[in-house]
Amino acid sequence: MNKTLIVGNWKMHLDVQAASLLVHRLDKHIKPHREIEVVLAPSMLALQPVSLEIDRRKFRLASQDAYYKDEGAFTGEVSFTMLRELVHYSIIGHSERRIYFNESLDLIRDKVQAAVRNEIAPILCVGETKQERAAGETKRVIHDQLTTALSNLTADEVDNVVIAYEPVWAISTFEGEVAKPDEIKRVISLIRNNVAELYGDQASNNIRVLYGGSVSPDTASAYLSIDGCDGALVGGASLNYKQFSAIVDAAYRVNHQEN
Ligand code: PEP
Repeated sequence: MNKTLIVGNWKMHLDVQAASLLVHRLDKHIKPHREIEVVLAPSMLALQPVSLEIDRRKFRLASQDAYYKDEGAFTGEVSFTMLRELVHYSIIGHSERRIYFNESLDLIRDKVQAAVRNEIAPILCVGETKQERAAGETKRVIHDQLTTALSNLTADEVDNVVIAYEPVWAISTFEGEVAKPDEIKRVISLIRNNVAELYGDQASNNIRVLYGGSVSPDTASAYLSIDGCDGALVGGASLNYKQFSAIVDAAYRVNHQEN
C-alpha cells in the first residue's frame, strides 16, 4: 500500500528565519508515522537552511518549481540538477505557475522529464479552471495536461510520479470553493483511467494521486478517505503549524480506521 503523502506548499511566504521557526514548531507537533510521508516545500531560498534543520525521519523536502535545463546561461533560474541533493520531490505545473507565469503544457512536460532525469519525483499538478468546469471541459483539460506532461517518460519512470489534482476553482488563492468529495473522486478515477490508457493498469494502480484545494483540518478526513486518494497538497493551511499538524493527524486517523 502507498504511504499517505501530505505536502505543504509554502508558496512565496516565510523568509529563512520564519521558515526555520515553522520547522521548529512542526517538529514539536508532528510525530513520525511509518505510513505517512510529510513533505515541506519552502521557497528556493529557504530550502538549503531548512534541509539542515529537519528531522529526516519526519520530513522530506520538495521544491515548488525548477528549470528544465540542467545548467547554462539562464539567469535567475535554478535547475533540478542543483536541487537533487536537497529534495525528494518537486512540484511541477502548479496552477499559479500555469496562470501567472504562462507555463505551457510543453514546458511542464520538459520539467517533468528533467526532474525524473535528476532522480527527483515530480508532483505534477493538474486541474481545470472555473470556466472550464462550467463548460464541461474537465475531462479534456485533465487528459491534455496529463498526456503531454507524461509523454516523454517510460512506464518505470511514471511509477515515481505523483499527480496532484488541484481544481483551480478550489484553491484558496483563486476561487477557494470547497470541493465536494464525490466530484474529486470522479476526477481521481478519470486520472487513473488516463494513466491506464497511457501506461497500463499496473502504472495506474501504482501512481500516487493527491487532492489539493483549500484542504483544512475540517475537510482533510473527507478528502483523505476518498477511494484512490493517496494524500493532500496543502497551501494556506501548511503555513500554520497547528492546522498542518492537525491535517497530518487526520491522515493518521483515516489510515487507522481503514486498517
Ligand atoms: C496549493 O497551493 O497547491 C493549494 C492547494 O493551496 P490552498 O490549500 O491554499 O488552496
